[in-house]
Amino acid sequence: MATNRLKGDDCERDWIWEREVETAPWEETRRISAGAWERQYRRLRESSPFYARRFREAGAGSSFVSLGDLTQLPFTTKEELKQALDEDPPFGSNLCVAPEQVKRVYQTSGTSGVPSVLALTRGDMESWTLMGTRTYYATGIHEHSSVLTTFGAGPFVAGHTHFVLLRIGVRSVPVAPGDTERVVFGLRAGLADTLLSTASFAQYLANRLEKTEAEPSSIPLTHVVTGGEPGGGIPAIRDHIQRVLGVTVTEVMGIGDIAPSLFGECTHQQGMHFCGAGHVWVELIDPESQEPVEIETGAEGELVYTTLTREAMPVVRFRGGDIVRIEGTSCECGRTSFRQRVMGRRDDMFIVRGVNVYPTAILSIVGDFRPRVTGRARVVREGSATSIEPPIPIEVEVTEKHESDPALVAEIEAAIHSKLMFRGRVQLVPESDFGEAGYKTKLTRKAPSPPRGEG
Ligand SMILES: [Zn+2]
Repeated sequence: MATNRLKGDDCERDWIWEREVETAPWEETRRISAGAWERQYRRLRESSPFYARRFREAGAGSSFVSLGDLTQLPFTTKEELKQALDEDPPFGSNLCVAPEQVKRVYQTSGTSGVPSVLALTRGDMESWTLMGTRTYYATGIHEHSSVLTTFGAGPFVAGHTHFVLLRIGVRSVPVAPGDTERVVFGLRAGLADTLLSTASFAQYLANRLEKTEAEPSSIPLTHVVTGGEPGGGIPAIRDHIQRVLGVTVTEVMGIGDIAPSLFGECTHQQGMHFCGAGHVWVELIDPESQEPVEIETGAEGELVYTTLTREAMPVVRFRGGDIVRIEGTSCECGRTSFRQRVMGRRDDMFIVRGVNVYPTAILSIVGDFRPRVTGRARVVREGSATSIEPPIPIEVEVTEKHESDPALVAEIEAAIHSKLMFRGRVQLVPESDFGEAGYKTKLTRKAPSPPRGEG
């Protein structure tokens, strides 16, 4: 039975980093957030030309808009943040502090491949560290853990994990993303009992060690924390990593423009707890109608974020693009924040005969065909239409000798048809051709539109 600690952890410390905040009654969290928002709103109106203008345009020129009335304010998208940057370089018309106060700058992955800029003050870095510490502590990482991290030290925001691990006080073993040799060496040598990686990499590692080690679970690794993409929460992927490596898998999630770590799954493995209380305000919306959806068990929608304490570049109602399912609003661990699981990216969603489908649903099915498949798959989309006619083209990564295996194709297609109620057209792709094994897996591949006949 799951407990509040990882298997084998008998340390004395509390399993909650900031007990007072993380177990506070919902009303208390809301009250603190409302106060922080009041200060933030004033600052935005006075110091952010970008938001002052947007608030005016929304008809809230001189009046105060409370946290409860946040829906009166417009959403912010990545495109709009990029426009704000172009309007007043190098930091943008949304900068709320003097440029001298900016102490760290990330070039984030912007839209259409052009980097955008994310500026932070000392205080912003501290609140990132605080939220990150709650997040990783929740996964079961404590002071006595030794953590091999493949999240790198930069230039990506995930590099901020370094400060978080330092704060918790773990032994840290940084390895460059995708450097499988060093990961395997480090784990075999017993340098670490915990691995931080993308779900794709953890799956790749499990597949590889299953082939090369007589007993992969004898490697002294006990805990894998996945992040950067959904996968650690998909049973077909999670169970495989847990079984092969003899570990507990928990997952974390962050949003580049909000905080690199914002959600952490506790040892009960029932979805990721929101760990940003007091610093970030979260709403759930229907991605199509954009209407608010109540955060309650079973609810589904897109997460929208407002930074309550961000100094340099606050954002208001930022659409994160992740579609999640709320798994619960309380937990045996004592945390009172809601738990969620990611169903997929809004951009990856497609519609088959009126039903919304995320490629993660296909991953859940494909994983059952190991060891013939690796567990990776993606949907091929032609053109930009969201609504697509079956059969849906799906590429499935296979292990050696299964590149042409008509029986396997038929079995996967039958499983997709019976579980997802639409027909797929499966194409098997060998590991060497699927690409980027070590890092993240894109769940959609854009295929060029077929040439259209004239007349
Ligand atoms: Zn919990």
